[in-house]
Amino acid sequence: MTEQRLPAAYIEAIRELLGPEAEAFLESYDSPRTQGLRYNLLKSVPGRQAMEQAIPQFALKPIPWCPSGYYYEEPARPGRHPYHAAGLYYIQEPSAMSAAELLAPQPGETVLDLAAAPGGKTTHIASLMQGQGLLVSNEIHPERAKILAENVERLGIAHALVVSAAPGELSRRFPEVFDRIMLDAPCSGEGMFRKDPAAMEEWSPAHVEMCAARQWDILQDAYLMLKPGGRMVYSTCTFNRQENEETIFRFLDAYPDMELVEQKRLWPHLAKGEGHFVALLHKAAQEEPARSRVNRSGKGKNGPGITAAARDALKQFSAWAAAELPGYQAGGVPVLFGESLYLLPEAFRDRLQLGLLDGLKVPRAGLHVAHLKKNRIEPAHALAMALQPGQAARSFDLAADSPELAAWLRGESLPVPAELHGWTIVSVDGLPLGWGKASSGQLKNHLPKGLRIQKGYVSEM
Ligand code: SAM
Repeated sequence: MTEQRLPAAYIEAIRELLGPEAEAFLESYDSPRTQGLRYNLLKSVPGRQAMEQAIPQFALKPIPWCPSGYYYEEPARPGRHPYHAAGLYYIQEPSAMSAAELLAPQPGETVLDLAAAPGGKTTHIASLMQGQGLLVSNEIHPERAKILAENVERLGIAHALVVSAAPGELSRRFPEVFDRIMLDAPCSGEGMFRKDPAAMEEWSPAHVEMCAARQWDILQDAYLMLKPGGRMVYSTCTFNRQENEETIFRFLDAYPDMELVEQKRLWPHLAKGEGHFVALLHKAAQEEPARSRVNRSGKGKNGPGITAAARDALKQFSAWAAAELPGYQAGGVPVLFGESLYLLPEAFRDRLQLGLLDGLKVPRAGLHVAHLKKNRIEPAHALAMALQPGQAARSFDLAADSPELAAWLRGESLPVPAELHGWTIVSVDGLPLGWGKASSGQLKNHLPKGLRIQKGYVSEM
């Protein structure tokens, strides 16, 4: 059926590419699309069994190539479960989970996700890094960068910086800086046709060519930012050779210090998923120990960027946190945007320099911890999401299927015991959802307005 709607030139290209296998591939367009979710390992979910049983009604089935990934089937709606709002998992197309697994980022490394919105691969990378090191997540389109920042916050990621720049702008600032780079390139999206028929309307041989030219440009910037000895994954959700193997051949030809370690295709008629191309590349190490080309001259550890105001704000926040978050260590470099205080991962200052952020669009300079209001602290939503259970002095836990939780997610205040007083973490089965402020038997709702959900949560379904 879908085949009738597929562009004729596309069918022809697929027949040329796949030969006798093309029919099985084209028939795969008639099966329902596959759906997956991936657990966020930053939210303590100990092991396979616990993951499978955490949400029994979703009947999760393991995805073979991703230890934290699971298939779910309709009518399950994990995007409407409160655990989604709590960042316990990220809904992601199953084949796409192969890319971060292949990149295999390690805790403590410096990693770049160059084309990151809405955040599937970034949240996967952060999860594999166990929140340690530095992750720079970039998205060129500012509106999409906002969505990326929201997802980074929802998943409680504290060691990521979200920036919004063209790859050329980044490569000028960050030459040979990253241990690993993810380049999930903008592509013609042939693997999206089942999920998003608009991608099919947009497809043409000329569009494929335009995408390949753009991928080539972005790859060259990615090369400049990769450290000697570093690894890079190039991935697309499209099937043609121009945007995949041919782009990689051209890249290897132009940069003899790059080698192809592994290249895989996930085909929708062979593995359960929408399809993906992934290539792992390695940059030869230099004989001399690699030195970052970032200019550090004259910039000490407290170099430009930490303003006196940011330092004062950190002092104020630390005093607040000592009383309100007894289990939390406020680590990081303070950065102040207006009244918003962020803590940039220490690794950024240690490995790079704060001045590199000047003039760059930075929707999220690390973890947003507080709003400073006329000498008082209002804790930021992102901070609540990054806390582990038990780190806050006060918490108020709600069951996933309780009407109170649905009311809370709608933005309503809740009655609480009169002795509860002050900033309180509201959680679902121990997973933080945001802040409330208790006073005189009422818990005032501080969930950001844009995150309030009017209906459709489990207790109402
Ligand atoms: N990695 C994302 C994820 O897993 O959620 C998906 C990324 S999507 C395949 C490609 C992204 O590249 C889009 O968000 C798009 O806005 C961005 N993009 C478009 N043109 C670009 C360019 N010239 N340079 C860098 N990124 C670009």
